[in-house]
Amino acid sequence: MALLDAETEHRIQGGPELPQQRRLVTDLPGPRSAAILARKADAVPAGVGHTVPVAAVAAGGGVVVDADGNSLIDLGSGIAVTTVGNAHPKIVAAVAAQAAQFTHTCFMISPYESYIEVAEALNRLTPGEFAKKTALFNSGAEAVENAIKIARKHTGRSAVVAFDHGYHGRTNLTMALTAKSMPYKSGFGPFAPEVYRAPMSYPFRDGLTGPDAAARAISQMEKQVGANNLAAIVIEPIQGEGGFIVPADGFLPALADWCRANGVVFIADEVQTGFARTGHMFASEIFGIVPDLITTAKGIAGGLPLAAVTGRAEIMDASHAGGLGGTYGGNPIACAAALAAIDVFENDGVIERAEQIGSILTERLSAMQSQDPRIGDVRGHGAMIAAEFVDPETNAPDAALTAAVAKAAIAQGVIVLTCGTYGNVIRFLPPLSIGDDLLVEGLDVVAEALAAA
Ligand SMILES: *Cc1c(COP(=O)(O)O)cnc(C)c1O
Repeated sequence: MALLDAETEHRIQGGPELPQQRRLVTDLPGPRSAAILARKADAVPAGVGHTVPVAAVAAGGGVVVDADGNSLIDLGSGIAVTTVGNAHPKIVAAVAAQAAQFTHTCFMISPYESYIEVAEALNRLTPGEFAKKTALFNSGAEAVENAIKIARKHTGRSAVVAFDHGYHGRTNLTMALTAKSMPYKSGFGPFAPEVYRAPMSYPFRDGLTGPDAAARAISQMEKQVGANNLAAIVIEPIQGEGGFIVPADGFLPALADWCRANGVVFIADEVQTGFARTGHMFASEIFGIVPDLITTAKGIAGGLPLAAVTGRAEIMDASHAGGLGGTYGGNPIACAAALAAIDVFENDGVIERAEQIGSILTERLSAMQSQDPRIGDVRGHGAMIAAEFVDPETNAPDAALTAAVAKAAIAQGVIVLTCGTYGNVIRFLPPLSIGDDLLVEGLDVVAEALAAA
C-alpha cells in the first residue's frame, strides 16, 4: 500500500533527521518527562491541561520525541497545526533568516513587506473571484473576534449566529460562540451578548438532508433573531472540536444563499480545516461555497502563531483606520513562516498527500467499522478523519470507550486526539509529512486498543 514513493517521501517529510519510528524505551511518562510534568503541576495552573503525558524535545516527519528518548507516532499535529510537518526545513530557514533581520517593529507603526505578501497570498488562495483584503492576528480566536467586529461594522447590525457543536475559541466573545460548556465555558461567564445558536446539520444523528437541515436553521434564525438584526453567521465548514461533523450536501450552500439574500455576512471559520488539511486548500471548496469572510490560523505558519481574516474588500474596509490590529498581529517571524508554509502547500504536493492519507485512514477505519459496531460513523475529508464511538444497541455516544481507546493508544506511543460534544469521537489529523508505514502502524495500535477495550 506504499502510496508514497521514496523521492516524494523525502521531499515532503522534512523536519529534523529523526528516525521515523515508534519506539518506547520507558513506560509513559518516563522518569525525565515525569520530573518535568511534576514541575508543570507546581508552576502552571491546572486549567492548562495536557493529554499526552510526555515532555517533547523534538518532532518532525511523523514523530514526536520525548525527554526520555521515546519516539511517538503523531496523529494529531498539535491540533492540525503542523500540517507541513514539524520543524520543516523551509520554515526553519525562513524563521532563522527573519529572526536575524528584525523580530518586530509593529505593523501598525512601521509596516513590512512579508505581512503584505501573506495578505496577497491569502487573497489569491481563498475562494471567490472578487477583490479581497486580509488582516493578520495571533490566534484563531482573535481572528474570529475580528471577523465579527468587521461584520458588525459593515452591516450596522449586532446579532451573530453560531451553530450547535461549534467551536470558535476561548476568549470571551468566542466562548459565547462556542457550543460546549465543559471544558470551554463552564464557570467563565457572563458571555458576550447578541450571540444566538442555530441547529447544525449532523447527518449521523439527525438523518436530515442538507436542504432540510438548512431550512430548520433558517427558520430558527428568522423567528428567534430576525434577518434584519443579524450581522453574521459563523460556521466551520467541517466542525473540528465538535466532532468532525461534515454537514449534509446542500446545507452550507443554502445557508450561504440565505445570507446573501438577507445582507448577512457569511463567515467560514476555517481555522482547523484550512490549508490543505482536507485535501483542498480550504474546506469551503468541497461544498462549493464562497464565504464573505474566512478566518484561518492553525496550519497557516507551520507552528508559528499567526491568524488571518480574509474576505470581500468592501466588507474588510468597513472599519475606520486604527479599528483593527494589535501589537503582535502579523509578526514578521510568523509571516516569514507562513510564506514558507504557503510555498510548501502550493509546490510540494501536500494537498495530494492529504488525499492519500485520507484514503488510508478511511479505508482502515471503515474496515474496522464493518467488524465492530461500536464504531458508529467514519467521516471527514482528506487528512481530517474521525471515528464516532457508540453503544451499538442504542447509538448513544460512548465517551468512556473513546477515552479508553485514546488512552491505550497514547500509552503505546501513538498520539491521538478525541473531540465531539459528547466526547465520543477520535480524530485523526496527522502531519502530511508522515510516511505510510508509520500511519498504518499508528492505526494498528488504535485497532488493538479498540479490540482490547
Ligand atoms: C482552534 C480553533 C479556534 C481557536 O483558535 P486558537 O488559535 O486556539 O485561538 C477557532 N476556530 C476553530 C474552528 C478552531 O479549530
